[in-house]
Amino acid sequence: MITIGLDIGSVAAKGVLLGLGSPLTALRPTGWSPREAGKALIDELLAQAGLDRPEIAAIVATGYGRVAVEDVDKTVTEITCHGRGLAALLPEVRTIIDIGGQDSKVIKLNERGKVIDFAMNDKCAAGTGRFLQVMASALEMDVSELGEAELPDELVPINSMCTVFAESEIISLLAQNKSTGGIIAGLHQSVARRVAAMANKLGVTKPVAFTGGVALNAGVRRALSAELNAPLLLPDNCQFTGALGAALLAREVVG
Ligand code: ADP
Repeated sequence: MITIGLDIGSVAAKGVLLGLGSPLTALRPTGWSPREAGKALIDELLAQAGLDRPEIAAIVATGYGRVAVEDVDKTVTEITCHGRGLAALLPEVRTIIDIGGQDSKVIKLNERGKVIDFAMNDKCAAGTGRFLQVMASALEMDVSELGEAELPDELVPINSMCTVFAESEIISLLAQNKSTGGIIAGLHQSVARRVAAMANKLGVTKPVAFTGGVALNAGVRRALSAELNAPLLLPDNCQFTGALGAALLAREVVG
């Protein structure tokens, strides 16, 4: 049975096609239209697979833009899809930390991989990928370069909690000739502290997995692991966990 899962995030739209041996994946910026992003992902996955739409048994969409996408059989919440996807990849995990473009989530799973509790920050950009994107552009870097560029031994603490003030703070730290690598380490610590505070409030049960686009950043991985005092498991294709869960749930739509 061939299914597609779509995770239309605030920053990135992800798609997974299951049923042809290894999963096929597609990624593109969500841009201004979640509907167009969803359509483009379906077209891209069909082209990769050499299939036509009638050959897909079911499509499930998740993510903030899920309701906008046409031609899907069902929409499912992000929490359920992330839980389902992660439980399939790393069944031993009891806590998932997902940091995406505009929200961060902590999801707790039981031994059967069912979601038993969760917490979410979607009110404030601090502690999300958006915060790091704003800071990367202030540093004239791409967000994908931050992880390699940090210097944890020279960590410069960032005191501002708010994204707007933190941006001014790093501009003034650069003017004081503080090292860029140290500032980046401070930014990673700031994100890690915010997310760890939310996770600790909910209660962290090990093993812990880290997912979402921000999990691609080795500096945030190091800082979050230190704040939680726990090793973090990184699933394959960590940005695609929600889309994978959606594709797995699509099998159940068909029955
Ligand atoms: P959403 O589902 O909310 O759109 P994602 O889980 O796709 O979010 O994560 C998007 C975030 O991941 C971006 O805001 C960015 O901070 C981060 N990111 C994306 N690609 C990379 C990369 N190659 N290296 C480091 N961080 C990345």
